[in-house]
Amino acid sequence: MIAIQESTLLRAEKISMEFVSRYGFLGRHQHRVRALDSVDLEIQRGETLGIVGESGCGKTTLGRCLIRLITPTAGRIVLDGVEILALDASALRHLRREMQMVFQNPFSSLNPRMKVDDLVAEPLRTHTDLAGGALEERVEELLVEVGLGAEHMKRHPHQLSGGQAQRVALSRALALSPKFLVLDEPTSALDVSVQAQIINLLSQLQERHGLTYLFISHDLSVVRHISDRIAVMYLGQIVELASSDAIFNSPQHPYTQALISSTPVPDPDSGRERIILEGNVPSPANPPAGCRFHTRCPYVMDICRRQEPKAHAVGEGHWAACHLLDKAPSDSVIDLQLIN
Ligand code: SF4
Repeated sequence: MIAIQESTLLRAEKISMEFVSRYGFLGRHQHRVRALDSVDLEIQRGETLGIVGESGCGKTTLGRCLIRLITPTAGRIVLDGVEILALDASALRHLRREMQMVFQNPFSSLNPRMKVDDLVAEPLRTHTDLAGGALEERVEELLVEVGLGAEHMKRHPHQLSGGQAQRVALSRALALSPKFLVLDEPTSALDVSVQAQIINLLSQLQERHGLTYLFISHDLSVVRHISDRIAVMYLGQIVELASSDAIFNSPQHPYTQALISSTPVPDPDSGRERIILEGNVPSPANPPAGCRFHTRCPYVMDICRRQEPKAHAVGEGHWAACHLLDKAPSDSVIDLQLIN
């Protein structure tokens, strides 16, 4: 068994998730999609780990697995010393307080028939003994924390702006004082000016409550702003992981390099060239053999089509899985189980 450091809040080992759909007469045929393939990850207390990648790469599935909104088909997840995949329904319900998720579209996560005060009170009624004046007081406190006031309490979700609705979703997520929040594209559905306000609010809440975030987004500029470290995903696997600065200043994996080259830069004379990837992301139902990125990689070699690349340490807390790094000394080939 691998020792888990005290600074680690969450550790995921070899997480795989396969979805099976049935079709044909009496559902005799199966269609299998491997959304996650042997993902290893550690998240430190109080940090923000950004997850980036194109649509369909498995970012959201990973977030949902980590808080067991869905149960992975294989792997192990330890949150603050608790093996969450081994919990029964009642123990899991208790642990729900510790981990929450905020979704991209706040309007689809808020019951349109309920008023704001009831929406925020709902998790408190379900998981705590708070009632009457004490409950009202806590609801008001939570709304003030996210920048809303008494005037919003009796509104329905459709009477709120996108930013206000996302603040309500955040106050619900904070209601039970969680340790770990999965933020799934929490600003993507908002106007740019409102995005900045929500990002700043998230940073303030993190500082105030010592929260740990998994921040999922396809927007690299936003991820860079908020994340301490970034994991880059491609077709159900993490292909590179490093500090935000290292990912942006020294990307090692060709896919990361292409992603970074597509982010806007303030200086038009920076000389940065955009790498245009050919083709679409292959289907996770039938991923390419060897390196999954080989069908689109500008540096593809013969070995890439046959052999899956190992993860290489390329700097302090920085690793990437690519055959271009195979020439590095053999002791820099690392076991993903030991990645910090
Ligand atoms: Fe490209 Fe090969 Fe590296 Fe994959 S292993 S990213 S195909 S060079």
